[in-house]
Amino acid sequence: MRFEVSKVLDAIEQRLTTDPALARAVVDLAEVVRYADLDGGRPASLLRLGLVVDALATQLAEDNAAVYAVVHRGLLSDADLTSNERMVVRRWADDGLVEVLPTVGDRVLEVADLLGLPVLSRLRFEGVRERYGWLAGQAGRLMAPVPGKTGVTLVAQVGGGQVPSIGSPDPVGAKVLVRLWRCPESNCANFGGGGGAFADLAPQRRTGGQPPPTLHTGSPTCPRHGTPLTDAGARPPRRRSRSGSAA
Ligand SMILES: [Zn+2]
Repeated sequence: MRFEVSKVLDAIEQRLTTDPALARAVVDLAEVVRYADLDGGRPASLLRLGLVVDALATQLAEDNAAVYAVVHRGLLSDADLTSNERMVVRRWADDGLVEVLPTVGDRVLEVADLLGLPVLSRLRFEGVRERYGWLAGQAGRLMAPVPGKTGVTLVAQVGGGQVPSIGSPDPVGAKVLVRLWRCPESNCANFGGGGGAFADLAPQRRTGGQPPPTLHTGSPTCPRHGTPLTDAGARPPRRRSRSGSAA
């Protein structure tokens, strides 16, 4: 049983990314793990992320569709998760596969805005619909994961459609994303220098996929540490798998 859970968590891990070129949707992990009606189980379960990611893949007709998960750091010690699940989330955080934040705020929306991605959430975001006009203005940019007849289904909060829509990245974001950024915090998982004693052992897929900085202060800032980022040069060109986008 435990072995089976580990296999499922490993499969979920393959579908996590903070790489703008690979992400297909943005989620708040602390919200998703509490969708108890998806499986009728414990108050919180990491496996629900897998259900939501599978629904995304099905509805995008893209087998390995990956999500950009934003995580409040409190989830790393949330007693409603099993100790194994907490350990797994910490590993994802350390490896930069998810973005851990002291406060989530509207980061999910900012990432979706900068990258042109749909948000998978049951929240209505009424208070910020003016700021993020696509929430209500573009069908399929805000999809609620709900229990369906054949499993989890994503339903557009506006218009009720079932196709998540990938929009155009924000032009300001696009400019920021052609550069590489460095956080002064030495152990920053998302904006680290790629240095450190074991940098050369980092998995290949974790290179080149730096997430978008937060731009709320007007200049690129580390969303986790709140520190200004320094420009570390042009982002190296890389293969992009998102259809229709150029590097
Ligand atoms: Zn940082």
